[in-house]
Amino acid sequence: MSQEVKIVDAVVIGAGFAGLYAIKRLRDAGFSVQAFEAGDGIGGTWYWNHYPGARVDLECWDYSYSFSSELQDEWEWSQRYPSAQELMAYLEHVADRFKLRQQIQFNTRVEAAEFIEADNLWLVRTSDGKTRKARFLVPATGGLSVPKPPEIPGIETFRGEAYHTGRWPRQEPTYEGKRIGVIGTGSSGVQVVHSLAGKCKHLTVFQRTAVFVVPAKNHPLTPEMRQRARATYAERRSLSRITRFGIPAPMANESALDATPEERRAKFENAWINSQLLGFRQCYGDILANDESNEMVAEFIRSKIREIVKDPETSRKLLPYGFPFGTKRPCLSDTYYSVFNRDDVSLVDLKSTPIVRIVPKGVETSEGLIELDMLIYATGYDAFTGALSHIDVRGVGGRKLSDKWAAGAKTYLGLVAQGFPNLFTVTGPGSPGPLANMAMSIEQHVDWIADCMTYLRANRITRIDADKGAEENWMQHVQDVVSRTLYEKANSWYRGANVPGKPQLFLPYLGGHGNYRKKCEEVAAAGYLGFVLTRETTATGMADKAASRIAAAGLAGGAV
Ligand code: NAP
Repeated sequence: MSQEVKIVDAVVIGAGFAGLYAIKRLRDAGFSVQAFEAGDGIGGTWYWNHYPGARVDLECWDYSYSFSSELQDEWEWSQRYPSAQELMAYLEHVADRFKLRQQIQFNTRVEAAEFIEADNLWLVRTSDGKTRKARFLVPATGGLSVPKPPEIPGIETFRGEAYHTGRWPRQEPTYEGKRIGVIGTGSSGVQVVHSLAGKCKHLTVFQRTAVFVVPAKNHPLTPEMRQRARATYAERRSLSRITRFGIPAPMANESALDATPEERRAKFENAWINSQLLGFRQCYGDILANDESNEMVAEFIRSKIREIVKDPETSRKLLPYGFPFGTKRPCLSDTYYSVFNRDDVSLVDLKSTPIVRIVPKGVETSEGLIELDMLIYATGYDAFTGALSHIDVRGVGGRKLSDKWAAGAKTYLGLVAQGFPNLFTVTGPGSPGPLANMAMSIEQHVDWIADCMTYLRANRITRIDADKGAEENWMQHVQDVVSRTLYEKANSWYRGANVPGKPQLFLPYLGGHGNYRKKCEEVAAAGYLGFVLTRETTATGMADKAASRIAAAGLAGGAV
């Protein structure tokens, strides 16, 4: 006799920032929750990215949960930008403090999820061979969780140690006395390079595209600094909820073109000295929209690189060109450029000296063999869609989500993909996600999802889907907003350009965190405008469904 499959209200996938908060918030709203996590511990991104130097690039006061003032008050951040290890400790504390572990099954990967239309349930198959049923599926799988391999021939032949930054081993490797190569110079590569320089025999950096790196000005926090931050937390969080990037720093309005060269220089110097990730983008309102204004920042940073890096040839290779400043995520580091002044660090510019293949002893370039004991791939991620495409998700009519997204991901508001009812994508494609403070983006989405599920329960609505027109309008709006900026000029992971063969579509919403939050609130207040809600009326015991199509395709997804 077959065993009755238990039904839970929600299956949450992942136990990182998003998964943990989803468990808490849904449980507090009275829903039963089962979460699955592929790793053997919590932490998500911070669990997998344990590489040397891994550290968040937003200040701890912003990159942290805001839902509990007690949590804010009791957690003692040690540095302005916490390390992966500190963030893991924080998330473990959150899991223990709010007793979230009991809902999580570790070492378990969700392999498939199929929507059973007759019952409005998701049938979820996991790597332990079991199947569960859930009324709602909440993938909290993160936008950057599936590592992208470097497409270089011969990888499998390398006889030394090889690691991808996004799958760092739990047992920390040793570096002393080793010849180490790092391929990739995005945020991860930059952090690895400044951390390993001087800790190994020789470090070779393989750079395909030079990036803009601005000072982090990271520092330990004193009790007085923590006290000051705690005193202003409420104000800080309220302001963050309405700003473009979800941090308490509003954008300037004026154009860089209206300032004198002296005024600009003073502003840029100030941004360099008191840097934080968004410092330069906040100097003027048109840095990300006007080529000329953007080039002024770009050239200022190039002038700093020329000052710092002594060897003219190396300095020249490190100068970023070919994409506007800020359209690929700028990196933070206090020492990245200066490590190239060391004798035990060398730079290989892959534009002039490409890699031919990886061989057992190291990397063969067009100029010869570079022998290595360790190779670190800091080559990024299959962003936004990678995690869900790796799960066999099938919606209405058995359609695969990866097929729906084959020409580019589509959702309504980054929350629901039409044809995949009762599936909420936390910080999914079409939402601001990584273009704002991720911690704040996650909280906003999870709160919206929990409130939506509460509304559905109260109104005996068993199914929510996106309206097709609303989804199309929204994705068009996402593209319209980006077309008014310089972002499309970069081959970034924001538009899938880093993964060969991936459809190129700009996926995060650039309209700003504050505007987006307001839009989501309006949609909910209007009875979930742009969604198709189906109410179950079971007076006869039969599944008699009355579709309440409350979408107004012309309105839904309108500009914010
Ligand atoms: P990334 O920004 O996509 O950078 C990948 C790097 O690898 C790029 O330099 C890329 O060159 C290079 N690359 C890729 N394939 C290659 C190949 N076949 N041969 C040679 N080079 C290759 O990835 P990431 O550094 O892991 O960062 C991804 C995102 O994660 C960041 O933008 C950020 O949002 C987040 N992150 C944040 C932090 C932080 O908070 N501090 C740290 C790490 C990551 P091209 O540019 O030429 O493609």
